Amino acid sequence: MHSLNLEQSIISSVLTDDLEKAAFLLKENPHELPLLAKLMDSVHGKALPLSHLKANDPDFVIFFPSYTCGVGCQMCCTGFSSKTRLFENYSHMSPEQFDSYMPWIQNSSYVIFCGLGETLESPHMLNFLGKIQDKISIIYTSGVPLTREKTRDLIKAELKILTFSFDGNTTLGHGSGNPDYIKKFWEKVDWVEHLKKEMNSIFPKVSLNITVSQDNQDELSDLISTAQQHGIQEITIDPMTSFDHRNFKKTVFADFENSKNKINAVLDRWNSEGVDVTQTGFTKSFNDASSCPYLDNWLSLIGTSPTTVKAGVCNGLLEVPKSIEGFDSKENWNSFPIRYLRYLHFCSPKENKPMQCQHCILTNLKNYADLSLARNSGEISKGDDPLTIYRLASNMKTEKNWSGARQEFLKSLKNHHDFSLKGRAYFHLGEIELNQKDYPEARKYFELAVQYHFEHDLAFAYLYFLVMIDPPSQIPARREKFDASKLVSALYAKYLAMNS
Ligand code: SF4
Ligand code: SF4
Repeated sequence: MHSLNLEQSIISSVLTDDLEKAAFLLKENPHELPLLAKLMDSVHGKALPLSHLKANDPDFVIFFPSYTCGVGCQMCCTGFSSKTRLFENYSHMSPEQFDSYMPWIQNSSYVIFCGLGETLESPHMLNFLGKIQDKISIIYTSGVPLTREKTRDLIKAELKILTFSFDGNTTLGHGSGNPDYIKKFWEKVDWVEHLKKEMNSIFPKVSLNITVSQDNQDELSDLISTAQQHGIQEITIDPMTSFDHRNFKKTVFADFENSKNKINAVLDRWNSEGVDVTQTGFTKSFNDASSCPYLDNWLSLIGTSPTTVKAGVCNGLLEVPKSIEGFDSKENWNSFPIRYLRYLHFCSPKENKPMQCQHCILTNLKNYADLSLARNSGEISKGDDPLTIYRLASNMKTEKNWSGARQEFLKSLKNHHDFSLKGRAYFHLGEIELNQKDYPEARKYFELAVQYHFEHDLAFAYLYFLVMIDPPSQIPARREKFDASKLVSALYAKYLAMNS
């Protein structure tokens, strides 16, 4: 269970519609969040905000079981190029942590074990697999810790899909282009097929994940061809991210149109030849997706200590506000921030989506490329440093110099691409307006605060009541979510038909 401080407990109660508890805590602690308490007093008898935007449980539950890795890929976006563990005193998700998410697992169809580290370094994988034999289980691995014995164990444990990560000859990727690593890698792919035959099993289906950069984009077609020769028919492609400014030039985003054209030609060719090649945003080309394939489908669970797990509702960088991020209870799935996210994705123009979504590497590659170029161009803050202005504005606000603070916060929004800083500035502008009791203006700023900094707890709590006070007069029809489940199950059914 997550331990929340008093402020987070109040906010969490508001965001999960437990207004009775929020009222109790605010009454017991009259100096805590006075602006929120005042707003709460004005909503008696009003309908809960966006309560029609609830959704069924997600079909995909994603665990990150291991926080260690010794493979040392240079392009590792978690930073394992220069370290072997993520947390000092926490290496692997425990069976107890996994079990506490069983209610989510029970209602899902797919359970995925992915890496913020090497999944097979977790000593608990067989324990986890033993509990989900009725699910389509998927493990991502570099393959490095895989031995024949471990492969046999995975087959016995009825793992359904094994996805290897490998990127060819590039020095940035798995194995740094070392010929011995590459030889061993393909031998391991072959072992899995041989051991499946030996054990009379059609599982696990083997697929490949490739991280593409300007370093290996010209080799991509040969790599897919080699994979096909080793029996692989399904491949996902991830664009490499620039975890470090020095490597930005090697990403496809430094010369996006050129790279996109090269990669799409390869994807077109192999898809027309019957290999299923998609980018991780589920499209069969490096083009923008019309809707997010993860929202309402995906629940990802990352352990951050022996007692805390952080949830995400997609496969992108959007962070869930801290007071609800534990997803200890089912209420969090339909809490106000997630309803509001659905509202932005399914009922609003695309310009209203969170900035992380508008620039998402999975769904909006062009915007992501433009933003990466701008952030890496060195032309960022012209004039005064926005953070210094933001700090000056914060001091003025503490001193109740409302007009001075307003002016400086507005100034801090200019000439930079730091969404989090902008979101926090909008939040303070909202609080200034709330102090002046200008509710429409406050609401406008809190909407911008969460658009730029989605994880802002208190902005969401204020917005909750402001939407209650003045609900949307007409809610546009809700667009359908992307049917990711149907796509994955069709591929799975195809595999079963070909192998049974
Ligand atoms: S194997 Fe995965 S987690 Fe390990 S360094 Fe490589 S990319 Fe990072
Ligand atoms: S960041 Fe937004 S668009 Fe990207 S996967 Fe997450 S919810 Fe979808």
